[in-house]
Amino acid sequence: DERVKRISEKIGTYPDFPKPGIVFRDIFSVLADPSVFQDLLAVLEEQIRAVCPDVEIIVGLESRGFLFGTPLALALGVPFVPVRKKGKLPGELKQVLYTLEYGTDVFEAQAKCIKLGQKVVIVDDLLATGGSMKAACDLVTSIGGTVSLCLVCIELEDLKGRETLDKPFKAIVKF
Ligand code: IMP
Repeated sequence: DERVKRISEKIGTYPDFPKPGIVFRDIFSVLADPSVFQDLLAVLEEQIRAVCPDVEIIVGLESRGFLFGTPLALALGVPFVPVRKKGKLPGELKQVLYTLEYGTDVFEAQAKCIKLGQKVVIVDDLLATGGSMKAACDLVTSIGGTVSLCLVCIELEDLKGRETLDKPFKAIVKF
């Protein structure tokens, strides 16, 4: 797919950021080119329509998941629901605790935004260890949603994050 090639070539690569030894992949360089950003959104939408044509909710993970989740929800005509770090969302919430390299963090979502059995696609910019995506899956499931697809722009294959997920998973570009 020529579009995937263009997207892949646009992704910025920064060795030793934010720490020595880490190779940071930067999706914002894709957003800086509207025609490639449009390609990325089109490819993401096609993946959702192929795997889960009857999707009912798009969930985006804070914060770069919001960049892709919101236009996809609009294009598909379904609600967008944010998953955020603790303390940022008002109202009745569900929480999930997850493990980071050092310590733990908490994801939250507004419990009333997803109804029992609704088919959910979870979107983020990048899958590394898979810890964030796994936590989001657990959160959506605890609210009663069915995770039909986990979708990211970039997968860091060496970290084998995909193996931590027990839901359908798709990535557009793999490094
Ligand atoms: P994971 O939980 O280890 O899979 O990390 C994924 C989360 O960390 C995503 O929300 C990403 O936005 C962020 N992340 C990890 N590595 C990178 C990177 O190289 N570039 C951009 N974001 C990253």
